This record gives sequence, structure tokens and C-alpha cells, in this order.
Amino acid sequence: MKKISRKDAINLIVEVQNIIEKKVDLSKYFSEDQWINSIKEKEIDTDFQGVSNGFLSEIIQSITGYKVEVCGEIEVLFPCPCCAFRTLTESYNPMEGTGYDICPYCNWEDDGTIDANTYRSINRGSIADYRQRIRENSNRYYTNKWIKA
Ligand SMILES: [Zn+2]
Repeated sequence: MKKISRKDAINLIVEVQNIIEKKVDLSKYFSEDQWINSIKEKEIDTDFQGVSNGFLSEIIQSITGYKVEVCGEIEVLFPCPCCAFRTLTESYNPMEGTGYDICPYCNWEDDGTIDANTYRSINRGSIADYRQRIRENSNRYYTNKWIKA
């Protein structure tokens, strides 16, 4: 199996994204204008922080056709209090002025809330509400490639 460093894997993905941006008319594939806007606004550099090497391997295989092993240390991020994935670059700490990261998986904004049932105006809901949304929207919040029996 071919091997690629994590850094090169991310660079390759970004290079292909830039080619697609220039050469492919994405509006042909997305019916809603909002989809195109959200694709252009994303922060490419930070998109892959903390994601698994297996996930990067899947992307590399999808865009190149080659099965590859991605090697390198994964950045250890802070766990989201809502979905528990390590997605946050800062932990909530008002004394140090850090936190308020928005989880890229479940969209919860980390405001220091621990109790799942507390309504938070900044999030317009509770952690329990967000977890319910994840359960009800398996297309949007998938974590597995295949469906379990
Ligand atoms: Zn989350």
C-alpha cells in the first residue's frame, strides 16, 4: 500500500479542491444557491485538524483511486461537551478568555455548559436538543461509511 504523510495528504486534498473550484461548475450539482455559498466560505486549512488518518485515507482514495496509508500524529483537540468528538481547538476557560469554539460536527458552541438539559440562548437550545437533532438526521450527521444491520 502507498504511504503518504498527514501533511502531504491534506495538501493533496486542498490542491484537488482548488482544481475543482476552478474547473468544475459546482452549480450543476447543487440545486440550492446556499450550498455553493457554504462551499466557498469554508476554511480549508482548518477543515482537517483532528480528523483521523483513516478518514484522510478515504478521501485520498476517492480523489486519486489509490488505496493509501496516511501516516503522522493527529492533533489532539478538546472534546465537544455535546457530541464528545475531539473537535474543539480551545477548551472553555473564561479566566484565560478561551472557548466558544463551535463544533464542526454538531454545531454546539462551547459556552461551558455541562448540564445537557440547560437551555442556552447562545445555542438556541440545550445539549439534549442538539443530540436529538443528531439522532434524527443521520444523513447530515453520519459517522460511518456503511449502514449497520
Ligand atoms: Zn460536537
